[in-house]
Amino acid sequence: MSKHRAGKLVFTKEFTKQESIPEEGIHRAESVLRSGRLHRYNTTDGETSETALLEKEFAAFVGSKYCLACASCGGALYIALKTAGVETGDSILTNAYTLAPVPGAIVNAGAKPIFVEITENYTIDFEDLEKKARASGAKFLLLSHMRGHMADIDRICDICQRCGLFLIEDCAHTMGAMWDRRPSGSFGNIACYSTQTYKHMNSGEGGLLITDDDTVIAKAIFYSGSYMLYDRHVSRPPMEVFERYKKIVPNFSMRMDNLRAAILRPQLRDLQRQCDRWNRRYKVLEKALKKIDNVRIPNRPAKEHFVGNSIQFSLEGATRDQIKGFLAECG
Ligand SMILES: *Cc1c(COP(=O)(O)O)cnc(C)c1O
Repeated sequence: MSKHRAGKLVFTKEFTKQESIPEEGIHRAESVLRSGRLHRYNTTDGETSETALLEKEFAAFVGSKYCLACASCGGALYIALKTAGVETGDSILTNAYTLAPVPGAIVNAGAKPIFVEITENYTIDFEDLEKKARASGAKFLLLSHMRGHMADIDRICDICQRCGLFLIEDCAHTMGAMWDRRPSGSFGNIACYSTQTYKHMNSGEGGLLITDDDTVIAKAIFYSGSYMLYDRHVSRPPMEVFERYKKIVPNFSMRMDNLRAAILRPQLRDLQRQCDRWNRRYKVLEKALKKIDNVRIPNRPAKEHFVGNSIQFSLEGATRDQIKGFLAECG
């Protein structure tokens, strides 16, 4: 619904109105509900749970060896840090432009965030990263591709190698995005995605952790709360890898359930189409915004194939009143 205000058409819809869950997801959710088998390990003989299938399909989508579905992305990041070997008091480098659950996961792991500056394109500042890596002696970088803005990941990997940093990618806003035709999330040792309502796929709450590493995934599966039921995972290393950790890794109860997985699987199949839609819309807005004085849209390198399901820009050199006027005009 649009309203006329002072002769202008004004947008009156909610800005964060979600699309409904695809019909197929609703049908699948209904059958999970009728079965009563919502817990991911509550399977019948020979049955593969919705959660295990989602993990297999998501790993295939991003081209990773393994995937683990978790209760949230914040939970997945916490598991990633624990799996990486983070201990109480460790320093974790992380870009300052981020979302609260990211430093939250660091604090949850008993560690201390060291915030790295960002550039005018909203991505991590390489010089500050290297400087702080050397000064702190940190061994971990938790890199948020915040609002989908990706720094030159080849340079990040180079710095990680030179400074001995274990890289965890927070891909909450880059599901479906690529750098130089390689999926975001495939550069780090571990990457985490969110399926919380405001992200690219919506299950209310939910997180996905990916890795190519046998040890990392086995430990992460234990941490997420597999009890001794890890053989019910499809996306997993050989059973003997679990033998090494089954008596030492604690259970944090951060599993995803079958209901959420059931509504995510059809969304995953539709994700590419959605990304294309969001990008078409992004380009329309970007083009219009570029015509406005004082508005600076970030430079997006040719290698960055982002998913524009939100847009960021800077209003430069404006007074308080001009900013107010601009916001009113945005309507
Ligand atoms: C949403 C978000 C998270 C956390 O995701 P949850 O699933 O809500 O825990 C982490 N990082 C970024 C950048 C996010 O936007």
